[in-house]
Amino acid sequence: MASATYILCDVVPGKPSMDYFPLFADLRGRSCLVVGGGEVALRKVRLLRAAGAVVTVNAPTLHAELADWALAGQIAHVPGRFQPALLDGQWLAIAATDDRAVNREVWSEGGRRRLLVNSVDDPASSSFIVPAIVDRSPLVIAISSGGAAPVLARRLRQWLETALPRRLGALARLAGELRHKVKGRLAFAARRGFWEMQFAGPFARLALAGREREARRAFHLALEHAAAAPAPQGWISLVGAGPGDPSLLTLRALQRLGEADVVLHDRLVSPAILELARRDADLVPVGKHAGGGCSQENIHALLIHHAAAGKRVVRLKGGDPFIFGRGGEELAAARAAGIPCEVVPGITAALGCAAATGLPLTLRQVARAVTLITAQGGDDLDTLDWPGLGAAGHTVAIYMGAGRAAEIRDRLVAHGRAADTPVAIIQDGTMPDQKLATGRLDELPELLLRRGIEAPALIVVGETAALAAEGAHSPADLASGWHAVRWDEVALAG
Ligand code: SAH
Repeated sequence: MASATYILCDVVPGKPSMDYFPLFADLRGRSCLVVGGGEVALRKVRLLRAAGAVVTVNAPTLHAELADWALAGQIAHVPGRFQPALLDGQWLAIAATDDRAVNREVWSEGGRRRLLVNSVDDPASSSFIVPAIVDRSPLVIAISSGGAAPVLARRLRQWLETALPRRLGALARLAGELRHKVKGRLAFAARRGFWEMQFAGPFARLALAGREREARRAFHLALEHAAAAPAPQGWISLVGAGPGDPSLLTLRALQRLGEADVVLHDRLVSPAILELARRDADLVPVGKHAGGGCSQENIHALLIHHAAAGKRVVRLKGGDPFIFGRGGEELAAARAAGIPCEVVPGITAALGCAAATGLPLTLRQVARAVTLITAQGGDDLDTLDWPGLGAAGHTVAIYMGAGRAAEIRDRLVAHGRAADTPVAIIQDGTMPDQKLATGRLDELPELLLRRGIEAPALIVVGETAALAAEGAHSPADLASGWHAVRWDEVALAG
């Protein structure tokens, strides 16, 4: 006979990162108690009834509308003062009287019965709170700041109310009704793509415009078409994720992240960017690092394996895929395997770091050329054009060069670069913890040491490096800029 061993121990919960667990409760046919009979109680009863709950209201007197409902048998009314026994058999309770002591009593008696209780406007005496909602049933958006900033939550709600089409609910209902048809005709792997196309195409447009019959027709046409189509073909998109700040992604990068089934990403890609990937995409770190990681051949094999299985594969790389990112090799491997592959350019580290520090890589009559070089550990520095790099009026941006700063300095100086040529070293450029060190070419290695610069860092040598500064271009401004865009919209809409 099967047996199980249970180990009993003290369960110590970790520090929660959310104050409340959000959930949508099915209250249809379930009894709920509302204590209080005024305006506030009325609002809560209305909401509970909208969700199909069987409501009992306990209050000495009732608001006229509540009284009507009671009379019509749509709610039960228990007159008189609150009695704890009223909580027995309820699924949840709301204390909505104007007497805090009564509300507290409902809460504490409810707690004794393991019942979820909300005391209106008194989170301290509540075991659940009722969020602000945007109701486009069956699509419902619930918003809560956990009591921290109710006005902010309300503004957000208002913004969503105005931003979301009125008929979003009708669209969702129609989609719900048609779901089984898609299930019947399309293989599992093809369904999500089909729905994505429907919500981005004529079906959604027509449904949102209230033209339901035409929307249905568009849907059926698309379904016929999709059912007749061959199995979905996978693809690979080599996407440049830029230097770190998510707001520096291209729109196409964002779009591909939203479509991806699998995201194979470099370690350099920031978590804030990974968060933008489709929620159920598989995120696979494949970055190479000093300790090893995934070999380039393995990365090729993984890319091809997933795409050949019909998946939409995003290969997400720091900066630009074609700048010291081995994107060229990955593109060649995909082509050799006959898999469609595109490249989405990204902002390379030199451009990101330059912008974030106000360092113009070229400047009229000061710097007429810019060269991007890599000085990775294993690379042979002899193959670079040092006489060219050593010329004045030429900006040199060095990737992966922090480990070979002394060699770089020596070669540049040997080929004519002035010892006092300005240098700028930018670590984590465009990120909130961006670090900038500036100085002279002859002190480059000491500068790196003194300022404790770590990878990833970019070294810029050239006259315009003297202009690099934190401040107006600081990462703090940039990092918040991304959010500011959205909050601006909230402010505008409010
Ligand atoms: N394809 C990438 C470069 C990959 S090589 C691009 O186009 O940017 C990795 C090197 O890029 C790092 O060692 C560092 O020199 C540079 N780098 C990448 N992101 C950076 C950042 N946010 N700040 C400074 N340097 C960065």
